[in-house]
Amino acid sequence: MALLVQKFGGTSVATPERMREIAEQVRFRRLQGDDVVLVVSAMGSETDELLRLASAVADRQPGREMDMLITAGERKATALVCMALHDRGVPAESLTGSQAGFITDTTHQNARILEIRPERVRAAIAEGRVPVVAGSQGVSSDRDVTFLGRGGSDTTAVALAHVLGADACELYTDVSGVFTADPRVVPRARRIERLSYDEMLEMTATGCPKPAMRSVEVARARRVRLHVRSAFTWEPGTWIGEEDPTMEQAIVSAVTHDTSEAKITVPNVPDRPGIAGTLFRRLAELDVNVDMIVQNVSADGVTDISFTVPRGQLGDSTSVAQSLAAEIGAGAVTSDATIARVSLIGAGMKTNPGVAATMFETLGAAGINIEMISTSAIRISCVVREADVVGAVSVLHDAFGLDRAGATVRP
Ligand code: ASP
Ligand code: MG
Repeated sequence: MALLVQKFGGTSVATPERMREIAEQVRFRRLQGDDVVLVVSAMGSETDELLRLASAVADRQPGREMDMLITAGERKATALVCMALHDRGVPAESLTGSQAGFITDTTHQNARILEIRPERVRAAIAEGRVPVVAGSQGVSSDRDVTFLGRGGSDTTAVALAHVLGADACELYTDVSGVFTADPRVVPRARRIERLSYDEMLEMTATGCPKPAMRSVEVARARRVRLHVRSAFTWEPGTWIGEEDPTMEQAIVSAVTHDTSEAKITVPNVPDRPGIAGTLFRRLAELDVNVDMIVQNVSADGVTDISFTVPRGQLGDSTSVAQSLAAEIGAGAVTSDATIARVSLIGAGMKTNPGVAATMFETLGAAGINIEMISTSAIRISCVVREADVVGAVSVLHDAFGLDRAGATVRP
């Protein structure tokens, strides 16, 4: 007998039929002797609709009211899923984030969980009811309703699985798991059977849209086993957990890509201590999350600094770079929003040389120019032209044999 936390959201709760299917699946799991806790997020694209409504009524939206509005989407879905369960003869109880015991800080629209007091969730389980918890929400220390941010329901589910000591947290979506590449870009992409927390984190940080990055961070910190799977086929999906030291790790597990960043270059920067510190401090003060940074040291006492920032922050970041460039006598700042990043991720990279060489040769043979490179122990990323990124993902997927089950080509 297991205790499972299952999260459903978006397309998997988009229609009454989907909700009835979820109810049937819960009934079946309970017949097998398992206890189930549900976490649900808003139906279909309801969160986007609510955001659109808010910007239609006002130019500026106070955070407190936004959170009250957005969390209504989750609340509606929990009540409906509960009704579907009752209809199948499964006792159930809907709970808002606050009722489920999620205490957060006071940062509206992106609140952090401070503490979870899941008494009502535990009582429902003990009394044979299925708790249906509204995702991505809580109550702040000021007793206001708070929203955990986009994709926050994954975090709700993982955090709840942790405090309840659940055997696993199942994140249901419209695809059958985590893939070796985005299947829309590489139709030959395969579902990955298992990934380590570190690999999953690197993937979400480099463009893999699901699960939400924060939820993977919580899962890694609390050692919650995750199972990402389909609510349409119910087939086994991708397991995310501890790296198994007795098993050989895949050298390359996946190719990810991301077109959400832009590049800024400050040329002819005087090569002296403190300048990089000043530039990146000013960007940090604007809350700009800088990703890749490249600096070339030249013989004649000047250097070029290039870095990437989220495209939405390109304007502000360019202004910061321009004013610093003027102060220190650097050259004209350039910016470029037509870049993309392609990344290889694999835990086995740590112990296998040659992965970078194979990656660069493969891109070179395809005529794709590399503009920037960065690495971690289990990731290699290259910035390329945005127009080249689909080709880059595809040739790398082939070069590392990711379309073949269990295959990992030695570099
Ligand atoms: N419904 C919210 C969103 O779309 C929260 C979630 O799905 O996790 O961001
Ligand atoms: Mg969602």
